[in-house]
Amino acid sequence: METERFLLGERMPTSLNQAYWFVFQGEQLVLIDGAVPIAPSAEALGFAPLRMQYVGLLDDIDVISAEISPDANLPENATTSTVRGLFNRLDETQFWVAGRAIQLVDWDRTHQFCGRCAAPMETSDLEHVKICPNCNNRSYPRLCPAVIVAVTKGDRLLLAHNERHREGFYTVLAGFVEAGESLEQTVKREIKEEVGIDVKNIQYFGSQPWPFPNSLMLGFTAEWAGGDFVYEDEIEHADWYTPDDMPPYPPSPSIAYSLIENFRQSYA
Ligand SMILES: [Zn+2]
Repeated sequence: METERFLLGERMPTSLNQAYWFVFQGEQLVLIDGAVPIAPSAEALGFAPLRMQYVGLLDDIDVISAEISPDANLPENATTSTVRGLFNRLDETQFWVAGRAIQLVDWDRTHQFCGRCAAPMETSDLEHVKICPNCNNRSYPRLCPAVIVAVTKGDRLLLAHNERHREGFYTVLAGFVEAGESLEQTVKREIKEEVGIDVKNIQYFGSQPWPFPNSLMLGFTAEWAGGDFVYEDEIEHADWYTPDDMPPYPPSPSIAYSLIENFRQSYA
């Protein structure tokens, strides 16, 4: 994520001059004239938000996320899209800010009541936390860490086709971190579960927020340590590929793309 233009924030300013409004109806981001609108208030744009969250500063302009009713009428010049559908339509920084915005909206929407005693939660003015006035339970926006791993065997890279991947992409393997696991344990378990091989020399590569709905992708490289391919369930095909003979793989700016390009360049 290119971060120079965006400064993360948690406290809603007491007064707003102009702000970017990332307004969501359900999972849909509402664009005005095809862009994220700038206005002094949601009302000025014709919206009546149910809830609002402070997101940060984008190009020195406050960013607010807001949720409107599923039944609300939209202005005539409004269009809607999932955040994921805006991958190439917003600039890259706005795309990642939209990802933070939808996660805050989703957290606010799904933590209205205490998970322990069911009392209505109160939202802190100081940070993104909901506090139960009855039992003091606290709820923060939750991230689900997942590992994504480029496994090599000599000058070949492991790529797999998963039935979930549209467009016939082949990509590196990924999976969620389970409770109680270290990241290295997750890497070893996921690769073994998905394709039946053992890996060694696990090295951290980099990370990327993946707000669909709330993952943080942690990239690793690893080397084959033993075993032959055994796969079933979601994996339709897996194989080792040399840099000059690769199947179609995911586009930038995904971390899968970065891992695969890193492999290609190191053997080019
Ligand atoms: Zn409670």
